[in-house]
Amino acid sequence: MNAPDLPSTASHRSIALESVDSVSLSALTGILTIDLDALVANWRKLESRSIPAECAGVVKADAYGCGLPAVVTALASAGCKTFFVATLNEARAARAATKSAAIYVLDGCLVGTAEVFADIDARPVIGDLAELAEWDAFCRRTGWAGGAAIHVDTGMNRLGLSMTEAQGLLPRIQGGSHGFTLVISHLACAETLGHPMNARQIAAFREIAHAFSGIPASLANSSGVFLGPQFQFDLVRPGAALYGVNPTPEADNPMQPVVNLKARIVQVRNVERGDTVGYGATWTARRPTRLAIVAAGYADGYFRAAGGVDGVRSAEAVVAGQRCPVAGRISMDLIAIDITELPPNAVRRGHLVTLIGEGVTVDELAHHAGTIGYEVLTSLGRRYARVYRGGKA
Ligand SMILES: *Cc1c(COP(=O)(O)O)cnc(C)c1O
Repeated sequence: MNAPDLPSTASHRSIALESVDSVSLSALTGILTIDLDALVANWRKLESRSIPAECAGVVKADAYGCGLPAVVTALASAGCKTFFVATLNEARAARAATKSAAIYVLDGCLVGTAEVFADIDARPVIGDLAELAEWDAFCRRTGWAGGAAIHVDTGMNRLGLSMTEAQGLLPRIQGGSHGFTLVISHLACAETLGHPMNARQIAAFREIAHAFSGIPASLANSSGVFLGPQFQFDLVRPGAALYGVNPTPEADNPMQPVVNLKARIVQVRNVERGDTVGYGATWTARRPTRLAIVAAGYADGYFRAAGGVDGVRSAEAVVAGQRCPVAGRISMDLIAIDITELPPNAVRRGHLVTLIGEGVTVDELAHHAGTIGYEVLTSLGRRYARVYRGGKA
């Protein structure tokens, strides 16, 4: 007898749950649902907050773990005309999903790659004079005039020309036909309203935008959008907020959740008072305890640091509609959840529990793991089946 084909759980691949037979469905250990309608609603919210600036979409790292092809397709049909990726490979994937949008590559033009930009009509975000010289040489030799962005550093000290180097480009800019379609800088502390760095960076970037007048200017990431209109210039570049991460950590989250993660209960077991759970025996049952053992672990991006240790509040999952704490260390492939508070027959082996969703946010899970929502999203495992909801205009 042939075993039924299991749906692929590889990243970048999505499945339509309606088309999956029940055996295959039961075999899925983790189901990651991406709500494309919520994603689009988040983009529209950021867009309307930024008028008259244009609102781009940052889709690097497989669209923050949500799947670049589906995300670009959904945002492009909502009207997004500019995308940012980190790498040329990501640009290729984005180009496959949109014929007409502008695609900027934040890592810029790596040595010897200029022709690939022309091949797929992508634009490097150039942050170094040697890189600019190589790009210029390519454009002169081939006549390619697809455009490039200039990145000017205003305090991040990561990528970008120094202020002095940027001022050195002024004669070229005043001479016209400079080949620049955008000038950007990046905020280091945008999520902290009132951080002195924001004032320093906006002052420096104002100078640049003024000197580069005629070239659209862009400074704000997700949190930057919420620092106010003076940070929005001609184009804003939100990433994390599109996917539901709170861009205003000091206040309520204005964005809708996009990601829902469910994982399968492999076993329900009872342990005695005084028994310990998991590696290192870090968690002790203080009463007769019922555990749901769930098929996801740190190999799936459920961070080990979110585990339950005696005396420390652990991450929580939603089981049968109720929040229940993680008990003991997170294993590579498994998590134990304390379901003692649930009615005796509330869940059985084979049921799903919610690890993200139903009120458990990406930011909350990140908090328990000592990290940020960005890292939770970009770590979402390859073993999960990715399912898309909505997104059809
Ligand atoms: C990642 C990135 C963004 C998007 O940042 P979010 O905080 O996710 O909104 C914008 N600009 C640059 C240069 C980036 O690297």
